[in-house]
Parts: sequence; C-alpha cells; structure tokens
Amino acid sequence: LMQLFRPLDFLGTVYRTIQQGMIDMEAMFELIDTPAEIVDAHDAPELAVPHGAVRFENVDFGYDAERQILRGLDLDIPAGTKLAIVGPSGAGKSTIARLLFRFYDVTSGRILIDGQDIAKVKQDSLRAEIGIVPQDTVLFNDTIGYNIAYGRDGASQAEIEAAAKGAAIHDFIMSLEHGYRTRVGERGLKLSGGEKQRVAVARALLKDPPVLILDEATSALDSRTEAEIQATLDQAARNRTTIVIAHRLSTIVDADEIVVLEQGRIAERGSHVALIAKAGLYAEMWARQREERAIDAAR
Ligand code: ATP
Repeated sequence: LMQLFRPLDFLGTVYRTIQQGMIDMEAMFELIDTPAEIVDAHDAPELAVPHGAVRFENVDFGYDAERQILRGLDLDIPAGTKLAIVGPSGAGKSTIARLLFRFYDVTSGRILIDGQDIAKVKQDSLRAEIGIVPQDTVLFNDTIGYNIAYGRDGASQAEIEAAAKGAAIHDFIMSLEHGYRTRVGERGLKLSGGEKQRVAVARALLKDPPVLILDEATSALDSRTEAEIQATLDQAARNRTTIVIAHRLSTIVDADEIVVLEQGRIAERGSHVALIAKAGLYAEMWARQREERAIDAAR
C-alpha cells in the first residue's frame, strides 16, 4: 500500500513547493496572471555575474499589444551603484523590476547584466543573482527562522542570525519565547509591516545577491519605524547594484542617478542636486513632498 502512496506524497511535496513559490512571487509582483511562455532555450547558458552592471537598451514593452507601457527605455546602472526610479502611479516603475526578473520578455530592445542578454540565459541563474525587498512581504506559515532562510538553500543557523542582525530584527526574535522557532504567518504570530519588511531584508542579506531591487512601501509608517527601515535598506544596498523604486524622495537623495518616469518614458534624469537645480518635474515633486511633511509635522 505504501508503494501506492509514495507518488502521492511526492506530488504533495511538489505541489507545496510550487504553491509556496507562487505565493512569494505573487506577493512580490502581484503576478497572478504571469504568462507561461517564458521558456529557456534548451542550451541556454548560466548567467555569470562577476560585477553586477545592469543595462536597459532601448526597451519597449506592453503587457498586451494594444497598450505600450515602456517606450525606448535606456538605463545604465554601473556595478555597485544605486539607481532610483520615481514617477506617478502607473508610470511603469514596477514593470521595470518585473522585466529585470524576466517575468516577461521585452517587446524590443535588450536587458543586459554584465554584458549578457537576460533573455538568453537560464532563468534560474538570473533569478539567483537578483534579490528583492517587496512593498509587502507575505510570510510562509512556518518559523521565522525558515522565513529568513528561504533566501538561500542550506543556510546555517549562524548565517541566518547574522542576516537577522544586519536587518535589525535579531533582538526582536530573541525576545520571543520560542526565538527563531516562533511560528509566524496567517496561523502564527502576526508581524507588523516594519517587522515583515525586516524579514525580507534579512532574506535578501542572506541571499547576498549582486543586484538588489528595493520596492519602497507606499503606506505611511510612523517616522521611527520608517527611519529604522531606511537604515536597514541602506545597509542592504551597500556594495551592490541597487534599483530603488521610491515613493518618498527623502530616501533617495544619495542615489547615483534618479530617473523620473512618466508614461513609460524618462522625463528627467540626474542626481538629486542636478534635478533640483533644473527646477522641473522632480523639483516640483520634491517641493510638494516637503510641504506634505511640514503639514504632517505640524499636526
Ligand atoms: P505604482 O507606483 O502605482 O506602483 P508603477 O509605476 O509601478 O505604479 P506599474 O505597476 O509598472 O506602475 O504599471 C504600469 C502600467 O501597467 C499600469 O497602467 C498598470 O495598470 C499596467 N499593468 C501592470 N501590470 C499589468 C498586467 N499584469 N497586465 C496588464 N497591465 C498591467
């Protein structure tokens, strides 16, 4: 009888693995309707990332033929630098992250990592080199240790704890009765938005990818939590190529380049200082956010 059940058991494991993978991806990019046609060429080589330079060359993209989302996008992100993408809702910011992960293929143009076209390499090898801290992290119904370790197969407890320290969540975990074995998620301890984001940062630190995408949360956090999270994100961005999808301009003042995206095109680009001096769209957004902050502070 056991012989009969073993395949079922195996299928169950596969199903659970796929299901968990899906939850994670959906959570990352709200990708419920990801097309299935992204397949590797049978002889596709592995991506090699000695440096982590990212380039978008004249990229056009639309989710469907009727509506183009990105138009002639050129980005050059030298290894180890930080690019910030800002712009109104719907401009195509998250779409750029989805294309870099190759959840979709570009309509025309190319995306290169260290000179290799990402459409021509094994998808697994591409995704292994990119970390993401999403806006809203969904936790698995498992221990908090497992949730961090998910960043890398075979991580040791010492490595998990080092990542948790880097993400400023170790002390919190140690204050829990069951420490790293505390169950979290829907059926366990509910974590706050800030705590969940720190788990995501710990995951990214453990994965230690050369390329990191930070999707900043839009929701308002209290200013202390916000400052703590910002310090954590800055820590995660150190020494790697980082793309920040930013909603609060105050967090990207130090970016090497800021790109203002509007209806899928780059409306302005430059450093914070240069863009302020230009007195265009970015300067306008900056002034508006300063006003909003002043009003909040006066409340
Ligand atoms: P926000 O700041 O609100 O997150 P964004 O700049 O990141 O916005 P995107 O998520 O990149 O914007 O979306 C760009 C456009 O593409 C939007 O008009 C959106 O409706 C559309 N879009 C996003 N995902 C899909 C999808 N899976 N299928 C069809 N259209 C989509």
